[in-house]
Amino acid sequence: MHTEQTLLFDADDTLWENNIYFEQAITAFISYLDHRVHTSEEVREHLNHCERATIAEFGYGLKSFQRSLVACFEQLSDGPMTAEKHERIVSFARSIADREIELLPSVDETLRALKSRHTLYLVTKGNLEEQTDKLERSGLAPYFAGVEVLAEKNPAAYAELVSRHKLETAKTWMIGNSPKSDINPSLAIGLNAIFIPHDFTWVLEHEVVEQPRGESRLLELGSFVELLGHF
Ligand SMILES: [Mg+2]
Repeated sequence: MHTEQTLLFDADDTLWENNIYFEQAITAFISYLDHRVHTSEEVREHLNHCERATIAEFGYGLKSFQRSLVACFEQLSDGPMTAEKHERIVSFARSIADREIELLPSVDETLRALKSRHTLYLVTKGNLEEQTDKLERSGLAPYFAGVEVLAEKNPAAYAELVSRHKLETAKTWMIGNSPKSDINPSLAIGLNAIFIPHDFTWVLEHEVVEQPRGESRLLELGSFVELLGHF
């Protein structure tokens, strides 16, 4: 793209690893629960159900994840919750907060090159404090003209962002790993989108990628560095 474009970047599992830490915590949780009636898959399925309910009430973030683990444990475990069990469950969620930020391959140098030609924004969802802290620790903050932490990434939220920053939809691209949060809602309001799948995308983000309508364009790339071939 020869003319200057506006590139909106998702953060978790697009710029840095995220979901694998949750998966590790969930595996530890399931093994701690050691359920005699339900299989691991059934516990996992029930946890997804708990997560949907918690997110609807409290939004995204580690505190919500912790609530979901506690709720799942209480609903599936035979014995009563004790202070000791509670502390153990909380430790699974807390282990995620302690992880170093692990950038995905070529992210730093790709963003640096793109910033010299285009305007970059970070557009993530989740808990404001947690996401801001991760960006700070990632060292990537200087590449972005602005940072948006949305409560939910749906068409209305993207439309509001586009109007507030006075972005030109034909020259604006949302780049991310989630069909549900990055690609489909952007295409729905006429933005362009770049889908960069991650092997371990969170199941709650799974959705069929919709085809663009009208003037919107959609590309699928195998890796982050391939952005340089298009911008
Ligand atoms: Mg993501």
